Amino acid sequence: TEACLSAIEGADALGAYVHKTPEIAIDMAKAADARIKAGDAPDLCGLPLGIKDLFCTKGVASQAASRILEGFKPEYESTVTTQLFDAGAVMLGKLNMDEFAMGSSNETSVYGNAVNPWKVDDRQLTPGGSSGGSASAVAADLCLAATGTDTGGSIRQPAAFTGITGIKPTYGRCSRWGIVAFASSLDQAGPMTKDVRDAAIMLEAMCGHDPKDSTSADLAVPNFEAMLTGDIKGKTIGIPKEYHMDGMPAEIEKLWADGTEMLKAAGAKIVDISLPHTKYALPTYYVIAPAEASSNLARYDGVRYGRRAQIGKGDGITEMYEKTRAEGFGHEVQRRVMVGTYVLSAGFYDAYYNRARKVRTLIKKDFEDVFAQGVDAILTPATPSAAFGLGEMQNADPVQMYLNDVFTVTVNLAGLPGISVPTGLGSTGLPLGLQLIGRPWEEGDLLNTAYALE
Ligand code: GLN
Repeated sequence: TEACLSAIEGADALGAYVHKTPEIAIDMAKAADARIKAGDAPDLCGLPLGIKDLFCTKGVASQAASRILEGFKPEYESTVTTQLFDAGAVMLGKLNMDEFAMGSSNETSVYGNAVNPWKVDDRQLTPGGSSGGSASAVAADLCLAATGTDTGGSIRQPAAFTGITGIKPTYGRCSRWGIVAFASSLDQAGPMTKDVRDAAIMLEAMCGHDPKDSTSADLAVPNFEAMLTGDIKGKTIGIPKEYHMDGMPAEIEKLWADGTEMLKAAGAKIVDISLPHTKYALPTYYVIAPAEASSNLARYDGVRYGRRAQIGKGDGITEMYEKTRAEGFGHEVQRRVMVGTYVLSAGFYDAYYNRARKVRTLIKKDFEDVFAQGVDAILTPATPSAAFGLGEMQNADPVQMYLNDVFTVTVNLAGLPGISVPTGLGSTGLPLGLQLIGRPWEEGDLLNTAYALE
């Protein structure tokens, strides 16, 4: 813990931590020491972690990187962080992210962007998003591991951009209670770690049934670490033809082909598969996610949480709401709220929201069909490129940024587990990641396949 705290002090330029909690960390570490001395050391005893700012942490600022939550200190602890701390983990502080987890570059944060510790010719790169601070902190050794959340790729894309491992479990594996909601039918928490074994150990502590989240699954949590044998002989790995996108960089094609060869060499059977509705995934996601976000973000009204705008003489409650939301939300969040309310409005509900829900079912069925044909896991690139430069997309059409999520959003729409594993460096020396998608509830198997790729 002390080593991490001093590393954090020297790394402000990375912008990874947005609230540092050194006193809390030292107290937790001492308590962990006492448990070890008493011979009662749980799995994560004394392990220093960074916590994404989206998790409510009791008495500690939890702002979802938004101005509107300025001053908000929750009275409660999220279920996932409660479980991690019960397992002995230590909290070093809260980590940077895109505002309300909306973004793929960590540039929508009210605190300013986090920076990728990897560089090319001194060009500053994004660590990805939305869990950019988590990725940057793990990659730069500012913690042993971090929590992330993934609604459309926010664990897997930043993991790929920074050369670390990140898994989004099956929807319902981790409780969403106490995590600031973005799109409730897609959101899942997961670990961001240095390798697959750490991911297995940390995921086990994060999972489990929680009566406080009605979508949390009442299923036993296996010992994921014990399932890491590295033996994948006889497993069937599907390669989806629709993920060969036009204009995909040669380095990504090569990474994918090399990964396929590695799995084959380890004894897996490789089959070509088709997921025919893939091309509708991005538009479907960018209707459903903003729709749910516009509803979830209605609670930030200047009354219940965080910041309230100054109002003028003669202003009523409506003006107070309007000013608070206009000042408190950044541009990307406002865009999502507007898109969301539009697709949910009486005149357009059927044309957009309901249509998107139907297409979502078809996307899910594509996966069910290939799993029914005996496919155990699906291998794809995690991202369509290596990390891009900070500021590079600032003036681009927002849809350019959304294209980053092309390989990851399908997994959330279908509720499946997906993992990003660093498998090599690209032509400019930057890390690249491959994604493995597994059957629902079979994270242990998925982690073991990822272990064979590592
Ligand atoms: N980049 C995606 C978005 O902006 C995904 C974000 C996430 O997974 N939280 O919506």
